[in-house]
Amino acid sequence: MAARPKRYAMVVDSKKCINCKACVVACRAENSVPLAYSRPWMNEETRGVWPKLMAAFAPEQCHQCDHPACVRVCPTGASHHRPDGIVVVNEAECVGCRYCMIACPYDARFFREDKGVVEKCDFCVHRLERGQLPACVETCPSKVRVFGDLNDPKSKLAELLSDRQYRVKKPEAGTGPQIYYLI
Ligand code: SF4
Ligand code: SF4
Repeated sequence: MAARPKRYAMVVDSKKCINCKACVVACRAENSVPLAYSRPWMNEETRGVWPKLMAAFAPEQCHQCDHPACVRVCPTGASHHRPDGIVVVNEAECVGCRYCMIACPYDARFFREDKGVVEKCDFCVHRLERGQLPACVETCPSKVRVFGDLNDPKSKLAELLSDRQYRVKKPEAGTGPQIYYLI
């Protein structure tokens, strides 16, 4: 019997985040991203009413959408959606038009002036092919991110999502994001 196709996704528990940015640094090192750019980033906000205020941090990255707006507008096919759910950019086919940057509702892409191409998080596909986790997942000291296969009912990811205590961001954009935030 053929193996079931994988469908990669991620759960993020922002409450655990201590804003150390180890994920950002690890991603830069793993994917040779210069200091001026970043694939994952941190959303920082102040919540509450004075004097009871608290800082809240939420890691962000490409949401590996099921119906990616970036792929729809790409004129060359450089941006494409893999069968395992990961949205990737083939640098060799990217002409740097940046239509995908405008289309993405999550602002998850950036233009590499030095290479003339658009770049974003790809869940470290090269690491997945070696049986490793994405660099941000492996590095985080607070274990904020849980990465896994939605089609594997025994995965930690599936177990967390079955609790239904999660939400996706900007569902109204209609792109089917696959980063789930625990409430
Ligand atoms: Fe937050 Fe983990 Fe990133 Fe540190 S490594 S900033 S704890 S998500
Ligand atoms: Fe594309 Fe943006 Fe969705 Fe990532 S978050 S798949 S760049 S539309």
